[in-house]
Amino acid sequence: MSTIDLHMHSTASDGTTPPGELGALAAEAGLSAIALTDHDTTVGCDACAAGCEQAGVRFVPGIEMSCERGKPAGAMHILGYFVGGDSELLRDVMTDQQKARDERAPLIVEKLNALRFDITMEHVLDAAGGGMIGRPHIAALLVERGYARSIKDAFDRFLGKDGEAYVRKDYLPTARAIEAIHDAGGLAVLAHPVQLRCEDDEELTDTVRRLVDQGLDGLEAYHCDHDGALVDFYTTLAGRYDLLTTGGSDFHGSRKPIAMGSQRVPADLLDRLLEARAARR
Ligand SMILES: [Zn+2]
Ligand SMILES: [Zn+2]
Repeated sequence: MSTIDLHMHSTASDGTTPPGELGALAAEAGLSAIALTDHDTTVGCDACAAGCEQAGVRFVPGIEMSCERGKPAGAMHILGYFVGGDSELLRDVMTDQQKARDERAPLIVEKLNALRFDITMEHVLDAAGGGMIGRPHIAALLVERGYARSIKDAFDRFLGKDGEAYVRKDYLPTARAIEAIHDAGGLAVLAHPVQLRCEDDEELTDTVRRLVDQGLDGLEAYHCDHDGALVDFYTTLAGRYDLLTTGGSDFHGSRKPIAMGSQRVPADLLDRLLEARAARR
């Protein structure tokens, strides 16, 4: 059976592949469909759609929104699929998120300067190459300039939650993200549940139940951080709440050692999404 990949990033957020080139890569990897899910933006979707059409790969426009998890505090990513059209609400949310990112980077640079690191906003803008600025760009700079041994080291010691140059971001409430995705005609899916690092199954089910009450449509079962046992576990959990399942590699180009299509996500998951979307209309 053919496989698909419904989670990947382009240069429109923190990936290293231009969105227009993803379709050709997908065809090379033998994928029948892909979704582009850049962080807090859909700006790469048109170029990706054109590349996919040329390559004969089905395209799903998507987004990955950084949200506030609620209790316990922390970040949570919500994927939106088939987001399109002209939802004013989604546009407003994307603008707010962009603003939060733009305001955060200079504050991080200030903290790094206080640590006597020779890094300026100009360097950061260069590293981002005109795309959205994210912490991975700053991490890459820290490595390049010899302040950190690796991206992980840069996050552990400086940019991550316990790092010396950490700056909190005002995250979007999950209810607003789900509402914006629905307003844009899309389906909302909880990304990589393993990254929530829930203490136990009860905390996980409480979290999922709260999101279901807010209108969540699905769970990402296949992800590069999920082994086979976790894929089964999240698929069962999704079934219990009548949720759809999705999956993808979380491909970031050369930024992470994860290949597009590596999760072998069965193509029939996309059929279920299409059915759910058709029923919604
Ligand atoms: Zn994510
Ligand atoms: Zn992602």
